[in-house]
Amino acid sequence: MATPADLVRPQIRELSAYPVPSSQGLVKLDAMENPYEWPASLQSAWAERLSRVAMNRYPDPQGTRLTLALRRVMQVPDAARLMLGNGSDELIQILLMAVAAPGRVIMAPEPGFVMYRMISRWLGLEFVGVPLNEDFSLDMPAMERALDTHQPAVVFLAYPNNPTGNRWSRQDVESLIARAPGLVVVDEAYGPFADDSFLADLDRYERLLVMRTVSKLGLAGLRLGYLCGPAPWMDELEKVRLPYNVNVLTQVAAEFALDHHEVLDEQAAAIRRDREVLHQSLESISGVKPFPSEANFVLFRVPRGKGRVVFEGIRDRGVLIKDLSGQGGLLADCLRVTVGTPAENQQFLEALKGALATA
Ligand code: PMP
Repeated sequence: MATPADLVRPQIRELSAYPVPSSQGLVKLDAMENPYEWPASLQSAWAERLSRVAMNRYPDPQGTRLTLALRRVMQVPDAARLMLGNGSDELIQILLMAVAAPGRVIMAPEPGFVMYRMISRWLGLEFVGVPLNEDFSLDMPAMERALDTHQPAVVFLAYPNNPTGNRWSRQDVESLIARAPGLVVVDEAYGPFADDSFLADLDRYERLLVMRTVSKLGLAGLRLGYLCGPAPWMDELEKVRLPYNVNVLTQVAAEFALDHHEVLDEQAAAIRRDREVLHQSLESISGVKPFPSEANFVLFRVPRGKGRVVFEGIRDRGVLIKDLSGQGGLLADCLRVTVGTPAENQQFLEALKGALATA
């Protein structure tokens, strides 16, 4: 009789499941969520709309109404096709499943979003991470060399990048799109907090896909991402999308939210303003170096060797952020904090000062 060791591939057995730490009783500033709930004035209309959902039926497999709402609100160019996913994580999985074949390479700058590497590994794909420069900009000679050497099937460029928070130079991204032999995915998970987007550029390129999510915008609980790109690619990806991958409650709730997108826009604008206040406050703390961010979080460095102890000190004072210091390299001594409400940010800053004083 087979045991897991006999049947589960060695690459999978070596992995650990994606860890999500408990945030019980803590101010939660670890996962780039929007801290604002839906306004009370709209909650009853939303609940009423959801109460009319036919839950005995499968959802619309294409999410037709939601797709139209996304196209309208997010200004997706007419020529681009749009696919919905159960979060953009699922869209990364769909895309990599479609291209997975022995010897194929997936590439992204690093440090970057961990799912690109993780899903590549699940599928037996080789992942090439190209280190960023010290200031977290793209190392263009290294990226170009890696493109030419590895001929990657897919290059992921998070724009802005997670966990560093910066946005690449547009010119660098354009030159990588022109040089890449395969697909380039510009991942705009943090697009709502940034000053630029490649959505409008979809018309100009044949091998560019733009991926977005409503998670950071205030709808993380719905699990909804969308991938936009040229029809010839999207038609193929459609073949590996599970039917009904976006459930009916998500479809209806997201459509309702998009009909009231001014609420989400105002929240994003407040988060952008508060990010600047948070950045300035971090800059004024001795021993702390925050990095520039166009996302809804700020990466910062604490004194050498103190990353873990400062993270724990902050948590002991009731605030959960993300400890990246253990990864070393460019992230040595680095922690990442999501922009919360002004009161949460204040609580975090006090906790940080307390943790630094005893570290
Ligand atoms: N892309 C990037 C760059 C991210 O940071 C994240 C979430 N951390 C995602 C995609 C996935 O987002 P979701 O699955 O919630 O849409």
